[in-house]
Amino acid sequence: MYIMDLHTHTIESGHGYSTLQENIEAARRLGLKYLGFSEHGPAMPGGPHKFFFMNFRCIPRQFGDLTLLCGVEANIIDLNGNLDLEESILQDMEYVIASLHTHCVKPGTAKENTDAAIAAMENPYVTILGHPDDSRYPLEYERLVKAAKENHVALEVNNSSLHPKSIRKGARENIITYLELCKKYQVPILLGTDSHFSESVGHFEDALQVLHFVDFPEELILNGREDSIAFLRNPMNRL
Ligand SMILES: [Zn+2]
Ligand SMILES: [Zn+2]
Repeated sequence: MYIMDLHTHTIESGHGYSTLQENIEAARRLGLKYLGFSEHGPAMPGGPHKFFFMNFRCIPRQFGDLTLLCGVEANIIDLNGNLDLEESILQDMEYVIASLHTHCVKPGTAKENTDAAIAAMENPYVTILGHPDDSRYPLEYERLVKAAKENHVALEVNNSSLHPKSIRKGARENIITYLELCKKYQVPILLGTDSHFSESVGHFEDALQVLHFVDFPEELILNGREDSIAFLRNPMNRL
């Protein structure tokens, strides 16, 4: 039983279709213990203004047995690995996912993309690298996995990337490649749904099929363990 989904979106993204309240209700129906609210950062076209991330104090965090964590899926905005929120905001996030999106940064070579992803992982607020599985951003996976271990960052296995109509390319093959390396170097992974509609919150079926295919060790899957939250939370969070 997996108790957390830390990658979910709402109508606030500009291209999602459920409210935060609806995602919370879906998570409670499934019996999740942690729901992460990780809206796209402000560089995403149609996404929220930075003020959105500065007002999280008004959101309750406990809904029965469900704890809500308020964070961000920040955009990597250049090949130096810079993010689209300033430090004063990042430090108030309960967790930060960093991801590459084509509307926010043009793909470089595999070396350049890997350097950008590693620089983002070196950002002290980042604890999750979102969907590093897209052939539009080729990556040097051995170097990426080693850097994830060094920086205590979880690589995401993104359920939406595996959807047959996903805009990301080659996800299954790329995920298999990094899962094998995570196994070899004992690097934990985090399942995320990347839900843009409440019914998909907490549903990891496509990702689990791939984990099963590579016989991925249960102890490296963070979603099943209560103590993962300490690993995944922003260590600098002041709230
Ligand atoms: Zn989105
Ligand atoms: Zn994303």
